[in-house]
Amino acid sequence: MENWAELDRRYLMPTYANLKLPIAITKGEGNYLYDTEGKAYLDLFTGLAVNVVGHSHPKIVKTLKEQGERFLHISNIYLNPPAIRLAERLSNSTIGGKVFFTNSGAEASEAAIKFIHKYQQKAARDREGIVVLKKGFHGRTLGALKLTRQPGVYQDFPLPSYKIIEIEPENIADLEEAIAKRPLAVLMEPVLGSAGIYPLSDAYLQKVQELCKEHGVLLCMDEIQTGMGRTGTLFAYEQAGIEPDLILFAKGVGGGLPLGGIISKPALSDLFAPGDHGTTFAPSPLSSALGNTVLEILLDDGLLEKSREVSAYLREELTALKESYSDLIVDIRGKGFMAGIVLNGNPENAKKLRANLLNEGILIDVTQKTIIRLLPPLTLTKEDVDLFIKTFKEHLLSLNEG
Ligand SMILES: *Cc1c(COP(=O)(O)O)cnc(C)c1O
Repeated sequence: MENWAELDRRYLMPTYANLKLPIAITKGEGNYLYDTEGKAYLDLFTGLAVNVVGHSHPKIVKTLKEQGERFLHISNIYLNPPAIRLAERLSNSTIGGKVFFTNSGAEASEAAIKFIHKYQQKAARDREGIVVLKKGFHGRTLGALKLTRQPGVYQDFPLPSYKIIEIEPENIADLEEAIAKRPLAVLMEPVLGSAGIYPLSDAYLQKVQELCKEHGVLLCMDEIQTGMGRTGTLFAYEQAGIEPDLILFAKGVGGGLPLGGIISKPALSDLFAPGDHGTTFAPSPLSSALGNTVLEILLDDGLLEKSREVSAYLREELTALKESYSDLIVDIRGKGFMAGIVLNGNPENAKKLRANLLNEGILIDVTQKTIIRLLPPLTLTKEDVDLFIKTFKEHLLSLNEG
């Protein structure tokens, strides 16, 4: 059999070497992945919040075949029915304006930066800068990298010159000070994902909206990780009762294929004029067709609603675990199927747990070194939760012995 680990080391640049697990995947089905040995893994990572309806969902596979037999790519100079349909549904399920599609999350951030610039040119020449949160993550291309406030990520790469104002999450005084500097826009993740699963409170998000409205500042929500039902509603902002001016989406929206973009509110939907932005591949007709099927499964088949019950059960079980083992677990954070288990003690523990659970056939993620991040498919069952909790508890307790 091929030594995939060896070939990976030889031919792929080692940007993910510290994260990579030693299993080669050959198949996915429902909530499970299978490796070359035929071993099954319960997938609580879903390729970083991408496979929201699980692996090889029958409806997704059907759409893939149907659209694959029609056409894969046509460019933006013809009408693209699967993409138009997807834009219509995304718009009608959110803030009602128009969509610009991209291939990825970072490209959605890039599009947002250009969109905000157009806002400055057309409506706010006396304003400058984008307000972002400390530790926020908005992608790794150079434009997006400037918005991303994690020093280990932006390092000393050459960054563009546009102005940003970094503030502390949940700190109202900081927010007011930033708004007083007359910025163009505020951009934030409603639940900070890569920073370690920090949900912003409804009260904070409402205050952000209030100040943005009062001062003519664009409210932009990066829902790239939180979107597509991840937090229990189609997009997380809904739960705070706010309405952003601009939504960034990606990850789960293409049903496993690359697709991202921005949605604006109607009043701003013609800020981008012909020639202002573009890309060859997006919107991929195939990704768009899958996107329509994901929305059908979430909204028409009732998966979004059903997922709330199981995610509440997961939250209860995690909270009970924290109460029983408060020496080992400092905090349980998150919303819906976006959960962070903050561990206490040895910083190696999270990595050790990830390795031990891999052995047991359960895939979990670690972020910010001490935080276990769970991003399960919305199709997760109570039985899956029970299996995870039982296995996790065993290995959590063995940390104390070792
Ligand atoms: C993943 C992510 C991005 C970047 O998306 P890519 O597709 O990896 O470029 C941006 N913002 C948030 C909140 C993300 O989670």
